[in-house]
Amino acid sequence: MLQENYRKVAATVQPGVRLVAVSKYKTVEEIKAVYDAGQRVFGENKAQEMRAKHEQLPADVEWHFIGHLQRNKIKYIVDYVSLVHSIDSLDLLKDVNAAASAKGRVVPCLLQFHIAEEETKFGLDLAEAEALLRSAEYKAMRNVRVDGVMGMATFTADKEQVRGEFAALRQIFRTLRERYFAGEDHFKEISMGMSDDYEIAMQEGSTLVRIGSSIFGARDYSLKLY
Ligand SMILES: *Cc1c(COP(=O)(O)O)cnc(C)c1O
Repeated sequence: MLQENYRKVAATVQPGVRLVAVSKYKTVEEIKAVYDAGQRVFGENKAQEMRAKHEQLPADVEWHFIGHLQRNKIKYIVDYVSLVHSIDSLDLLKDVNAAASAKGRVVPCLLQFHIAEEETKFGLDLAEAEALLRSAEYKAMRNVRVDGVMGMATFTADKEQVRGEFAALRQIFRTLRERYFAGEDHFKEISMGMSDDYEIAMQEGSTLVRIGSSIFGARDYSLKLY
């Protein structure tokens, strides 16, 4: 059933777009079933939960961190994380850089933008991102690499609003690429789209879709896995 759901979803992901299977609140056994069906990229939003799963699953899983990252939890992910989608401050990026430096790694990161109407979603605006990218502190960092942007649309049935928010994120991406990453091919990722809105996100230029419930089913938030 899980593998069938996964195959159905994977078949709808356009060429050139990568699927991040969001496995938060799901067990190692459930993740393994999707792994066995061929998926290698998984997304988690809690650092300790991701570490525990990383230790139990095959080494060729690419772990993406997609949640709000607390600075004191970087240590749980820094030595193996493939992409941090959720950088929302210079201070956080500084700490990831320092932790990565101690491990001799360069950690790929995305800047998270606040594109939704809701107050609760984390993220930068364009001016804050530009201040970050212009700062001497950022320019001195050698152990993080900014590969693109991430955002979450408003949770609404209004598809045109969602489309407008994704289009705004794509525009932010283009602006930053032009102003700060000209000629740097690694700056290429737009992480947008979840179970309910990834079709729209792909039409608006997403390169990474983060899909949980359409693959794994509804989450049980009362579960305390780790
Ligand atoms: C949980 C989560 C997702 C996946 O949401 P679904 O609606 O289950 O697909 C995507 N992105 C982030 C940042 C999440 O926290």
